[in-house]
Amino acid sequence: MSEYMGQENPLLIIISGPSGVGKDAVIDELKQRKIPFHFVVTATTRSKRPDEVHGKDYWFYTPEEFYQLLKSGELLENAVVYNNSYGVPKHDVRDSLNRGEDTILRIDVQGAAHIKREVPNALFIFLAPPTFEALINRLGNRNTETPESLNRRLNTYQVEMKAIPTFDYVVINYESRLAETVDKIIAIITAEKLRTHPRRVKL
Ligand code: 5GP
Repeated sequence: MSEYMGQENPLLIIISGPSGVGKDAVIDELKQRKIPFHFVVTATTRSKRPDEVHGKDYWFYTPEEFYQLLKSGELLENAVVYNNSYGVPKHDVRDSLNRGEDTILRIDVQGAAHIKREVPNALFIFLAPPTFEALINRLGNRNTETPESLNRRLNTYQVEMKAIPTFDYVVINYESRLAETVDKIIAIITAEKLRTHPRRVKL
């Protein structure tokens, strides 16, 4: 058998991009299609939105609880995004990779840059809106933002788009074409599993 066959390294897949671009929708669709992967639920101090579930969308913690996690060195990455703290539980990522499962992380662009320094062999996918206006529409429709926080999110957008060249792939999430976006992400994952030199991730 060729030495190139049978190499099954779990991938650490970072799905990033501007806030409101549709990262959660993409991940939900991957789950719907029963694509096998482990989704890392990140921790946050942000308050829960009505449709969110503790332990599924986020671990919702008080600032004190979050600080305890941070102090114990248990966060692979943490950041303040729009005045709330977010962090990636390290043990969850490590355990999942040790089980041999492809592992998906949904984080903002500054978080992705941090992970890139820590784990350069992860697979970095940037999800982009087709236009600035499309992102404004999506954020506006979400009805959960104050005009002030909307403004802040939009200012960050331009800085975040400049980070695209540091990613491995960029996928545009066109309005009402989620299936196509997810098809492209699955194609990327499929191709990555056929590499002659697989990404080996160490935590
Ligand atoms: P939201 O509060 O709207 O759910 O998320 C705000 C932003 O924080 C999104 O871009 C989301 O992807 C990002 N985010 C979620 N979890 C983490 C994390 O653990 N670290 C970082 N850096 N960003 C995160």
